[in-house]
Amino acid sequence: MRGPGESGAPAAVYRDHLRQGRLAYQRCTDCSSAVFYPRVLCPVCGSGALEWRESAGWGTVYATTAVHSRNREPRSVVLVDLDEGFRMMSRVEGVPAEEVEIGARVRFEVRLEGGEPVAVFRGEER
Ligand SMILES: [Zn+2]
Repeated sequence: MRGPGESGAPAAVYRDHLRQGRLAYQRCTDCSSAVFYPRVLCPVCGSGALEWRESAGWGTVYATTAVHSRNREPRSVVLVDLDEGFRMMSRVEGVPAEEVEIGARVRFEVRLEGGEPVAVFRGEER
């Protein structure tokens, strides 16, 4: 199930940007909030005046967890605060999952998984 703000056009616009290597987010022109995940109405003030922006792709790890599954290297699940002021769930690559640190600087990249573009982050090599 999808919420009313997450179906249809905004999610498709986001994916189209992602497919071309861009991390798009929305900004509310009424209250200046950065909005993510893409939606129809601003979650802060309810305005429909959301405009698309492109993130520079730099962020800081806000929270991190290593997820263990059988026969695979553990994967990180992280919340990243992007410099533009929005937060997204993703994963960090290039650093072992247990070594991803809160506060680490990470850079956005796109992966294709099953033909779908996915936003991931690359940590600094140590
Ligand atoms: Zn707003």
